[in-house]
Amino acid sequence: MFLQKPVKPDWKKVLLGFLLLAIMVLVLDVGCMFRRITGVPCPGCGMTRACFAAMRFDFKQAFYYHPLWILPAPLALAVVFFPRGVFVSPRAEKIAAIVLLGLVLGVYAVRMILLFPDTPPMEYQSENLLYWLASLVGLV
Ligand SMILES: [Zn+2]
Repeated sequence: MFLQKPVKPDWKKVLLGFLLLAIMVLVLDVGCMFRRITGVPCPGCGMTRACFAAMRFDFKQAFYYHPLWILPAPLALAVVFFPRGVFVSPRAEKIAAIVLLGLVLGVYAVRMILLFPDTPPMEYQSENLLYWLASLVGLV
């Protein structure tokens, strides 16, 4: 058999995880911690806005904010139903992880080339922690 058998998830933990994630995204409005620290957008920047656009069935806007907006839902389901991994073979698991990582980094590179530093969601955040620290010690 190529794929693992799905397990019955602990729905209380799944619900608690989604609830905590929703609180973090909606109430705290933390945004991207990577961008707050470095000023540079991360490979996931725009994903939340893309998923909200997809929930409004505005798929053009979803692809604009993040072309890989379709991935989080199946990945979350895979984590819930296949906690030991999707594939039986460790080699297949490793190949899938490498392909996924390559896809994410490739899309990130294209978005950085086309949109950085001034087009949302890939804009530079001038008020970032590294810049603030550098200004404290007189580097900038
Ligand atoms: Zn980000």
